[in-house]
Amino acid sequence: MYQYNESVKRRSVLTGFVTTLGAWAREAEKTLRGKLLKGDLLETSSGPVKLTGDEPTLGVIRDPRVIGLELEVVGEARGAGALEIGPIHKRALYAIKSGQRLFVTYWCDICSIRTYTPGQCWCCQEQTELDLRERYD
Ligand SMILES: [Zn+2]
Repeated sequence: MYQYNESVKRRSVLTGFVTTLGAWAREAEKTLRGKLLKGDLLETSSGPVKLTGDEPTLGVIRDPRVIGLELEVVGEARGAGALEIGPIHKRALYAIKSGQRLFVTYWCDICSIRTYTPGQCWCCQEQTELDLRERYD
């Protein structure tokens, strides 16, 4: 009987710990909307926010075709007025067009290859086209 109680107690402590972690993860994650400006800045309703992220993400937010668009980004706050966008595979960056959330993708028409950061097609070396779309793949 003693052992049973002990294990139940341990389990509830563990559950409490996991719940706390979950709440922390949700709090740390922020979603921001605004117009993308030059210099990795997002113009939000509460002021400009400096954006950081991994290399493919930085490629997207430095793409002259993306600068000026309304974006929604999901990431973690990095001090006041800064946000680290989630890694590219987490699909943490969207363009907003007519109220619709669109994935930012790049397309090579010649090879029918889709990528998620601007640059040359790895197959034919042509520049890929910006392709905002409802589906990711
Ligand atoms: Zn190609």
